[in-house]
Amino acid sequence: MNFEDRVDILGVNISRVTQKQVRSRIECSLDADIPLTIFTPNPEIIMLAQEDESLKSLLNGADLLLPDGIGVVVASKILRDPIPERITGIDTGEFILNLAAERAIPIFLLGAKEGVAERAAKEISTRYPGIKIVGTQHGYFNKSGYENDAILKKINNSGAHILFVCFGAPMQEVWISENKKHLKSVKLYIGLGGSLDVWSKDVSRAPQTLQIIGLEWLWRILKEPHRAGFLLKIPCFLCKVLCRKISQ
Ligand code: UDP
Repeated sequence: MNFEDRVDILGVNISRVTQKQVRSRIECSLDADIPLTIFTPNPEIIMLAQEDESLKSLLNGADLLLPDGIGVVVASKILRDPIPERITGIDTGEFILNLAAERAIPIFLLGAKEGVAERAAKEISTRYPGIKIVGTQHGYFNKSGYENDAILKKINNSGAHILFVCFGAPMQEVWISENKKHLKSVKLYIGLGGSLDVWSKDVSRAPQTLQIIGLEWLWRILKEPHRAGFLLKIPCFLCKVLCRKISQ
């Protein structure tokens, strides 16, 4: 398996991997203590990266860039350079939780509103007995200066090997890239958007049928109508990809 195999989608190099390969990469990295950073870009963040070169290079700096969003998979097909399947952040997160519980790997949950990470930790501990959640922290703090330093200290003191960062994109990707050099014990970083809201049961995930047919976004828009603006970005994204293909 070649993890350097990437598909260039508007300059963002998405990993061409299956879910099975991702899982095996995570296991190998944790076993061998090799640092691993995982981001899961969707069309929205790829569009943002079009106007922000530093965001683009920060995304491309991740060890694994997983296609979270059916739009990214469709884009790869338009480019005739197909990605095998959609791989969501939250499913990858579930896999990591299971592995962390099996191997007693310490994990820290960072992000979401006050109280959410604690409730998520409680729910996760019920679902994965034996899991070692060594710390939680809400995500509404100043991401630089004194407050940020205190959070870094808290994570370092926890001895966590896995860090879930759930601030939404691109804040979580920027935070991980800027702060990982200060974190001593963490080996695996992953940006997981609103996953803590789901694990705490504050937000419900789409029914499995919608997940399977790639319509999870429709559920999110029905539940949170303020996200509807996102819909307009998908055609723009796909048009841009099509133009790129034609111009090649
Ligand atoms: N959030 C946070 N700190 C912030 C801004 C947002 O912890 O400064 C949290 C927010 O409470 C929510 C998550 O980040 O839990 C963003 O979730 P969303 O579903 O919008 O992210 P997506 O999955 O769409 O990237």
